[in-house]
Amino acid sequence: MKTNNHMAKTADMVKRGDEGAVRAAKLAIVGGGAAGMFAAAVAAERHVPCVLIERKARLGSKVLMTANGRCNFTKDISAEDFLRDVGPCARWVAEAIRECPPRQVIKGFKSLNVPLRRMPDGRMFPADGKAATIVHAFGDLLRDESVPILTNCPVVGIAVAPRGGFVVRTANFDLSAENVLVATGGVSYPKTGSVGDGQNFARALGHRLVPYRPGLIGLEANDRRITSLAGRRFEDGRAKVMDASGRVVFDYRGEVDCESFGLSGAAVYNSQRFIEHENMSDYSIEVWFAHERLTFRNLRPRPVKEAIVTLGGVSLDDVNPHTMESRKVKGLYFAGEVLDIDGPTGGYNLTLAFATARKAVVSICG
Ligand SMILES: Cc1cc2nc3c(=O)[nH]c(=O)nc-3n(C[C@H](O)[C@H](O)[C@H](O)COP(=O)(O)OP(=O)(O)OC[C@H]3O[C@@H](n4cnc5c(N)ncnc54)[C@H](O)[C@@H]3O)c2cc1C
Repeated sequence: MKTNNHMAKTADMVKRGDEGAVRAAKLAIVGGGAAGMFAAAVAAERHVPCVLIERKARLGSKVLMTANGRCNFTKDISAEDFLRDVGPCARWVAEAIRECPPRQVIKGFKSLNVPLRRMPDGRMFPADGKAATIVHAFGDLLRDESVPILTNCPVVGIAVAPRGGFVVRTANFDLSAENVLVATGGVSYPKTGSVGDGQNFARALGHRLVPYRPGLIGLEANDRRITSLAGRRFEDGRAKVMDASGRVVFDYRGEVDCESFGLSGAAVYNSQRFIEHENMSDYSIEVWFAHERLTFRNLRPRPVKEAIVTLGGVSLDDVNPHTMESRKVKGLYFAGEVLDIDGPTGGYNLTLAFATARKAVVSICG
């Protein structure tokens, strides 16, 4: 495990068995991805003593992959427009988003001196087109604020301590904390460190889980008109979803990409997410790209491990949307993709992670 001096000091302070330090860490943040880094930044701003614990050697492995390494971190729209677009979780996340709207996220990165680029449709990126710039901005802020960061440090269990608070079990030692924020992400791209640990901790502590399904993922279509163009991207594509009676129920203009397995790109991803949320077992999808206009029935999505976002996770019925605190275990909080929340392409999922993380920390500081 890597620690620098202040990290090592804090790690020592919060080790189990040190009576005086049992409540030294007001907050242990499990997971150093989008939600965990944002939570640690908010905690630092509000002087909440916290420790950020990440299983991988570095923070933000998945963030580094976003938008093909360019990081579409939010969209320059109002909170109400965001909530109109975001989908089934809109009501549950409304308070978190209104308190941390996309434009506040933009302001936050500006205040960290990250030069930004706005696309004509409002999608926001770091100006240099590098997701690493966003991750470094968090890293620099947390180091400047002396937030202890434990990397290479997988959490293997979270237990309620007999005298209140929590014991956070890592592969190497145990930590004590008054509150725990679980920000361990979904289950896609497991190499980034998100493997469903947080959901397992939640289940062990009595929370219900909504089954995982892939969200924003390609559709398999073994058709020469597509596979012969594998690797080609068509920005002005379109996809329409029709129900069993042929009625158009979803229509999205955006990128369509041809792959060796079939179709991907924003228009296909958002259609797939719609189909999954609506639980459609009999549908057709019309896909437009180049001069093609192809219709398919009931295409199979690629597996969840390849998904941009995981549908399902910790049930929203077991978490209070006004605080992000568990309704089952006091002092236990959740943020980001570990929860059963998700949005479309366009910066919505990172914004959800940021806003829910902020909400949790603000609740913890009262
Ligand atoms: C290819 C791809 C492209 C994407 N592009 C975009 C985009 O452009 N815009 C957008 O808004 N969203 C995008 N997303 C989605 C977005 O990246 C996620 O929704 C977001 O990162 C979720 O944040 P999170 O903090 O909940 O989880 P993550 O960012 O996945 O972070 C979870 C962290 O927890 C750590 N962790 C897990 N278990 C443990 C444990 N037991 N102990 C310690 N640490 C643990 C993991 O290592 C990981 O670092 C993309 C996703 C993918 C896969």
